[in-house]
Formats: sequence, structure tokens, C-alpha cells
Amino acid sequence: MFDKILIANRGEIALRVVRAAREMGIKSVAVHSTADSDAMHVRMADEAICIGPPSSAQSYLSFPAIISACEITGAQAIHPGYGFLSENAAFVQVVEDHSLTFIGPTAEHIRIMGDKITAKDTMKALGVPCVPGSDGGVASLADAQKIGEEIGYPVIIKATAGGGGRGMKVAQTAADMEKAYLGARQEGKAAFGNDEVYIEKYLTTPRHIEIQVFGDGKGNAVHLGERDCSLQRRHQKVFEEAPGPAITPELRARIGKVCADAVAKINYIGAGTIEFLFENDEFYFIEMNTRLQVEHPVTENIFNVDLVREQIRVAAGLPMSFTQDDLTIDGHSIEVRINAEQLPDFRPCPGRITQYHAPGGLGVRMDSALYDGYSIPPYYDSLIGKLIVKGRDRPEALARLARALGELIVDGVDTTIPLFHALLQEEAVQTGDYNIHWLEHWLEQNL
Ligand code: ADP
Repeated sequence: MFDKILIANRGEIALRVVRAAREMGIKSVAVHSTADSDAMHVRMADEAICIGPPSSAQSYLSFPAIISACEITGAQAIHPGYGFLSENAAFVQVVEDHSLTFIGPTAEHIRIMGDKITAKDTMKALGVPCVPGSDGGVASLADAQKIGEEIGYPVIIKATAGGGGRGMKVAQTAADMEKAYLGARQEGKAAFGNDEVYIEKYLTTPRHIEIQVFGDGKGNAVHLGERDCSLQRRHQKVFEEAPGPAITPELRARIGKVCADAVAKINYIGAGTIEFLFENDEFYFIEMNTRLQVEHPVTENIFNVDLVREQIRVAAGLPMSFTQDDLTIDGHSIEVRINAEQLPDFRPCPGRITQYHAPGGLGVRMDSALYDGYSIPPYYDSLIGKLIVKGRDRPEALARLARALGELIVDGVDTTIPLFHALLQEEAVQTGDYNIHWLEHWLEQNL
């Protein structure tokens, strides 16, 4: 096992990794930009090292700065968290070239899944059901129009290099195709330096269901059920839960096995998430994330596992500490994302926290790097905390969420807390009867 690991991230996820490492008796090294000198992850880790100025490109994304920090501190492995370098195949290669261990999948797995066309082709070949659409990239507008006619409108045009909800355009009818096709290409080029696009049938009422998988890199893999992340704004998740209200044990067992078998076949190592759209009892693969997800705690809650601990174990060459048979669901868990944003337009709202009080009590977990007097810097993501609850069943989890939200105090900046108070009043949220478009409609009408 490692003696010391470096965490190439900040905020709540850096704390999350510090906590897992400490329980395992592993020392942790925090890295930080000059804007994060006072951050909680810097205070909580065993050691901290400044790696550059506020700009992410020169700090949290800088290969030489992070590798040097490992060499200076003697850290043997790097946990990337999510975002930043977590899905950067070139970085993984550099880590390996320096005889360090990347706590995550191989560069090759990241490369395959980072390109959406290659990912889809790979998954299809592994028996995973996909959204009907073009066979690979679509090279011209004329081809796009032909495919649109064949699969039927509406369709979605997606940049193969896209991510974070960017590089996707919907064409409701043939008349929209030119604008959508050129728009997706342009966005792919501008944001990701790659203008290749492909086309999929646009599903009108799906849920977003994602399957948590975990592999040991030696051909063994398990699934840890699903998360329903259908409540989204601009393709970004805001409220996640496990198990999914629409998923029966039979559906879970079927799709879970397909996913576990697929990643076992490619010797996948570590945590991964296979994302699907789910409509009329059918699953359609959209992408795989080769990292820990923001919403992983809801899965940890219902399976009583520590996914970060497990990531560290398999990266060190140890076997997984559970088998598929060990993994049974206990209760229901919900997470809401607390962002420093001003409603109704969700404008980032950095600033100084004048008062912070975290909720507690039975079944409540608050993953946050906030503290009284902390100044949220303006340079990074607006996520400032995740409130995660667990109940014996969904109604109990919802009641607990309402109770815990009532205890949570974040003063000094605007946050998304009022959004969740309002959402919990909605019948659709209480019954779990919504699809990926529900929240957008609700926001238009209510904010
Ligand atoms: P990203 O990598 O940017 O997160 P995804 O491919 O995971 O992109 O898609 C993000 C979201 O976009 C999905 O959760 C869903 O809301 C929507 N979406 C993607 N593909 C389709 C589709 N074929 N039909 C309808 N909605 C889609």
C-alpha cells in the first residue's frame, strides 16, 4: 500500500480523498493555487504545496507543477478527483512515465471513452445498448440531412470530443438541421479543438440513469446499481438519487450485468460510470465517465461502501474488497448540489462566507469545504457543497432532506438552497415522476 498520495484537486472532493486516505493510514498531500492558500483541503491534508497562480491552466491543470509536487513530497500516487486532470489520458501517461501511480483507469481506457464515437462503437461491440444514430462521424451537412431523414426527427448532433453539456445541438425538424449541425461542429472546435460530430435520435421523455461500475484491472468487475440524475439544468445534474425510482430489481440486474461484463472484458480498473438515457423500459448508452462522479456518495450510502478507499486499494494492486454477491441495497439516498449561484439565472456568486452551519443528525452527510469566514474564489467551479441524506425508503429520505436543508446555513453569498426548498414542495419530486426535461420547464414557470 502507498505511504503517501497527492490529491490533484481542490474543494470538497479533495477533502473526500484526504478523509479516505487518513482512515487507511495513508498520508495525503494537498496542492493549491495561490488563490486557495486558505482552502480547507490545504488545512486538512498532512502536507500542502503551492503549485501556481489562480488560473487552473497554470496550477491544477499543470502537469509539471503536479509531478514536481510529487517528487518534492515523495508522494507515490495521484488521486485526480473529478474534473481537472481526472480524464486526461496524456496526464496519466506522464504520471506513469515518472514511475508514479494514477489512482484511476489506464490512459488507454480514458482515451477510448473520452472520444464519444469510439466509446459508442466500443460499447456497442461489448453488447451495451446504444441510442440509434449515425454510424460514427458525419462529415457533411448533406450526410447529416440524410441521416436525419432516416432516423426521424428530432435528432441531437453531438461533438465527439464534447463534455460538460457542451457541444450538443438539437434539430427538432429538418429545417433546424443546418444550424444545429454547424453549431455543434463550431462548438466542438472552439471548446475542444475537434469539430467531428455524430447524430443520435433525440429522446423526448427519457430519464438519466447511470450505472456505477468498478473493476480490478484483472478482468473482474462489479456493478453498484444505478443513480437517477434526471433533474438537470442545461444538461447539468442538480439532484441525484439511488436507487432510481423507475428501476425495478429485474431492470437493475439486467443492465448492471451488461455493464459489469463490458468493463470486465476490457480489464477496466477503478471506478467508472456508464450513463444511459432510459425510456419505455429500455436503456440507451450515451457515455462513460472514467472517474469518480460528483454524485458517488448516494451509491456509497445504499451499498455501505467507500468508493475512494476502493479506488486506492485497486490502484495499489490489491483485490476489490467486495464481490457482486456482497452488494445489496440498503435504503434510499438523495444528494443535492449546493452551488454559490444567484437565482433565477444561476450566475456564479463567489464571495465571503459570513456564517456556515452544516446540518447533522441521523442519515445526514455534508461534503463541503466551507467554513465561517472562507472566501470562495471566483476562478473555479461554483459547487460549494453536497448535502446527502439516507433514509430507509424514498419518503423517509425526502423528509430527511427537507429537515436537513432547514438546518443548513450558508450566509454571505447566494446559493441554490432555496431551489431545493421549492423543489421539495413539488408533487413530481415527491413521487419521482419526472424526466430530463422536467426541471427546465419548471424553472421557466417558477423562477
Ligand atoms: P456530456 O458529456 O456533455 O455530459 P452526454 O452525452 O452525457 O454529454 O449528455 C448529457 C445530457 O444531454 C444527458 O443527460 C441528456 O440530458 C442529454 N442528451 C444526450 N443525448 C441525448 C439524446 N440522444 N436524446 C435526448 N437527450 C440527450
